[in-house]
Amino acid sequence: MQRYSLLNLVRNAVRGNRDWQPAWRDAKPKRSYDVVVVGGGGHGLATAYYLAKNHGVRNVAVVEKGWLGGGNSGRNTQVCRSNYFYPASAAFYDQSLKLYEGLSRELNFNIMLSQRGLLSLAHSEHELEINRRWANATHMSGVDAEILTPADIKKLAPRINLESRYPILGGFMQRRGGISRHDAVIWGYARAASALGVDIIQNCEVTGFDMSDSRVKGVHTSQGFISADRVVMSVAGHASVLAQKAGFHLPISTMALQAMVTEPIKPALDVIVMSAAIHAYVSQSDRGEIVIGGGADPLNSYAQRGGMPVLQATIAAVIELFPSFSRLRLMRQWAGMVDVTPDTTPIMGLTPVEALYINCGWGTGGYKAIPGGGYTMADTIVNNRPHALIDRFGLDRFQSGALIDEGAAAGVAH
Ligand SMILES: Cc1cc2nc3c(=O)[nH]c(=O)nc-3n(C[C@H](O)[C@H](O)[C@H](O)COP(=O)(O)OP(=O)(O)OC[C@H]3O[C@@H](n4cnc5c(N)ncnc54)[C@H](O)[C@@H]3O)c2cc1C
Repeated sequence: MQRYSLLNLVRNAVRGNRDWQPAWRDAKPKRSYDVVVVGGGGHGLATAYYLAKNHGVRNVAVVEKGWLGGGNSGRNTQVCRSNYFYPASAAFYDQSLKLYEGLSRELNFNIMLSQRGLLSLAHSEHELEINRRWANATHMSGVDAEILTPADIKKLAPRINLESRYPILGGFMQRRGGISRHDAVIWGYARAASALGVDIIQNCEVTGFDMSDSRVKGVHTSQGFISADRVVMSVAGHASVLAQKAGFHLPISTMALQAMVTEPIKPALDVIVMSAAIHAYVSQSDRGEIVIGGGADPLNSYAQRGGMPVLQATIAAVIELFPSFSRLRLMRQWAGMVDVTPDTTPIMGLTPVEALYINCGWGTGGYKAIPGGGYTMADTIVNNRPHALIDRFGLDRFQSGALIDEGAAAGVAH
């Protein structure tokens, strides 16, 4: 792999930047692989990378029906945090955040992690009480958490309106929370995986599975049949569609989740601000745009676009918090198809089909989980049992009833 370094930057600049290699090889499918990863989003690419790097499994293909990161991994609002309520979730997401903290160095690709802090607002005494419980629970799991007063909040975000229709009584802060650049995470994993021998195959849709004796033997794709010892599905909003082709049912609802950005402005907001009560959150990107996100559209849909009512409600809520943002022009709006489970906890691990593994159910919050998801899924595939960090996230919990309901604590669950 051609290293990205100051020396290489200067050397290439002197030569007119003609010698840069493509970041990854655009591979054609081979007839057979040890592992086929379906879905070239962050989770699929990270799984392939850790298979090759941690377990020496290099005969791996990532099969993507469109282009890398064209799904939710390139459409999200980039929030990374680990302040989850239940110990099982906090342990998993904190491991993921720790991997993020070392990822630029590990991948030799600047993912622009900016741990500027993530603040969740409380607009009533009840919400403040819930925030205290949430902060305590998070703290008990060994994750950083603190309660802030309205004065602390004003100092952190001077443009915020403490006394709007939604008065701010305090907030819950995770200082290690932040954002990182989503394209960089995808390209960084793709480049590092490709350098380790993983084949990255774009424009290749998986249309079905080949099975014998309830074991998967390979995948049918738009570029022909590919045989595989093991297959893992990381296809987010399409998870239930693909599972059906493999003959089992997933408790997943797919809906659109929207985000939007304003025109770029000078630095105006140095913290991520989230409000569960009014269902909106806001941060400022490195380019200066104000990045705004809201809740998922209420109707199930596979359309990769959102509806006007949620868009309007989200903007109205943000303007209540930051009245001066009403003067900004909105530049872009888009949506992704998110895969929501009944308890807003992901589904990871084995499936009823032997040698077929699943990683889905991230809903509105799986970007922060990309390194952790890839790391634990690679281990799960190699050892054919769930990694200890994800053994509560299996499909079997919908039979046993051992759900992990992160919906309330996660608020706007990003
Ligand atoms: C607007 C928005 C904001 C968000 N904000 C945040 C946030 O701030 N923080 C956070 O943690 N999370 C956030 N999320 C959620 C996060 O983006 C996702 O949970 C995460 O990216 C899921 O990654 P993935 O790799 O599982 O899926 P994806 O990135 O969607 O990748 C799945 C891939 O599978 C491919 N695919 C589907 N079917 C097939 C097939 N049959 N054959 C081959 N390929 C197929 C798709 O083309 C796609 O590229 C947000 C999501 C959206 C939409």
